[in-house]
Amino acid sequence: MPVDMLHLWINGQRAQAHDGRSGDVFNPATGEVVHQVPLAAQADVDAAVAAARAAFPGWRETTPLRRARILTRFRELMEQHRDELAQLACEEHGKTFADAAGSVQRGIEVIEFASGVPHLLKGERAEDVGRGVDCHSILQPVGVCAGITPFNFPVMVPLWMFPVAIACGNTFVLKPSEKVPSCSLLMAELFTQAGLPDGVFNVVPGDREAVDALLAHPDVGAISFVGSTPVARHIYETGARHGKRVQALGGAKNHAVVMPDADMGFAADALIGAAYGSAGERCMAVSTVVAVGEAGDALLPLLREKAAKLVVGRGDHAGVEMGPVISAAHRDRIHGLIDSGVAQGAELVLDGRGLAVPGLENGFFVGPTLFDRVTPAMDIYREEIFGPVLIVLRVPSYEDAVSLVNANPYGNGTAIFTRSGHWARRFQHEIEVGMVGINVPIPVPMAFFSFGGWKASLFGDLHMHGMEGVSFYTRSKVVTTRWPAPAERMAGSLAMPTLG
Ligand code: NAD
Repeated sequence: MPVDMLHLWINGQRAQAHDGRSGDVFNPATGEVVHQVPLAAQADVDAAVAAARAAFPGWRETTPLRRARILTRFRELMEQHRDELAQLACEEHGKTFADAAGSVQRGIEVIEFASGVPHLLKGERAEDVGRGVDCHSILQPVGVCAGITPFNFPVMVPLWMFPVAIACGNTFVLKPSEKVPSCSLLMAELFTQAGLPDGVFNVVPGDREAVDALLAHPDVGAISFVGSTPVARHIYETGARHGKRVQALGGAKNHAVVMPDADMGFAADALIGAAYGSAGERCMAVSTVVAVGEAGDALLPLLREKAAKLVVGRGDHAGVEMGPVISAAHRDRIHGLIDSGVAQGAELVLDGRGLAVPGLENGFFVGPTLFDRVTPAMDIYREEIFGPVLIVLRVPSYEDAVSLVNANPYGNGTAIFTRSGHWARRFQHEIEVGMVGINVPIPVPMAFFSFGGWKASLFGDLHMHGMEGVSFYTRSKVVTTRWPAPAERMAGSLAMPTLG
């Protein structure tokens, strides 16, 4: 059956790609193509950046409060369309409706935060930094900013970026994942309905060609990226080479440390949600359990029993707890990694290979999979699997657990399960990871804090949203002021001025 062709969104209206390249958008639960998506070429990126550049002077001169009011109207429209957005995310990503609706809500919270940005654009001021001399700083927008986003959060991750950038007075070009383009296109229409001037927000679905065009474009001042680590590194290096500020969030291998004193029932429930929610396709998914001492023997039967009961199927069907993975290629890669775990000697406790969901035989499903007695040398430990595969490593002590986590190249999220304040406090102090949960399995910060990892999970210095988001999307200028009395004269000097 023929499917519709989606569009680009440039200068407040729909557009088609110049050279006619397109890609398939699948429903991963059925394996069917549901849309065609145009893939933006250099000329399309040029058109989007030109629109954003032309809109910048007017948007920059729009007062922060007026900008914030448009964001507030956008938030209201997003709330009215919450179910539609969640349904689109379900269809193109495969996650369950409840999970998609939760992630839409977390995205809306960033718009809420961005509506308060005028308060954060105030800068600093000091009187008498020298005799009769005052000093203040002002925060100004960067110009045209670009965002490049992954498939796994079609609504939330773009919202980490563009509301904050736009609230700060920038204009924006978003390159969403070509696997899940529809939510970004709907958000662009809603933002225009909210009163956003044409050209302030543009969407160019596309692949590497569009990304490389953005990275090299002389009129793009800042690049925000979220995706896998090899691409994050490429974005950071290329963007920096072209003189842009870059924040590039990469992949993850999130460890949960379970101490022997933890409430095992509570920990097991939390770990099941964190490992298998969204079929493990979350950058904050817990993919690795580090069981300390006797914790392993207590935890394993609980994990096995709970994982085996999960209901797998179409994300938009009632009662389904876990949907498919994003593509046939990704399913096959996960199967290959499970094969490698078996071959390399891990104990396969629950095997999700070969799962068939009745009526959805062409869907991209992998069942919940659980490995015990994994070692750091195995591929299932070394690779980010990004699927419904939870691995358990056993270590004798707290110190061994911390060494293991800190030796891992990634540093996105982590958690400890314990009843002891002593272990919890040491853990938050010693662990080399950007986001830490204490009896909280997925410690995704609220919009008014900043989101981001360490090490190979982040290239750049600043995290997303919260104050770090505002810093990323603004340039600070420091103004030093003297108002001499009419008769006052400065003694001319060629020496370095000192004010104190
Ligand atoms: P991906 O890196 O394949 O793609 C991300 C974006 O980059 C997409 O828009 C894609 O079109 C583009 N892209 C892909 N290959 C490219 C290339 N060679 N050159 C230029 N652009 C390219 O990631 P994905 O598969 O869409 O998403 C999953 C990954 O994202 C996982 O590694 C996950 O951990 C990570 N992720 C990280 C975070 C975080 O906050 N750290 C959040 C969500 C997802």
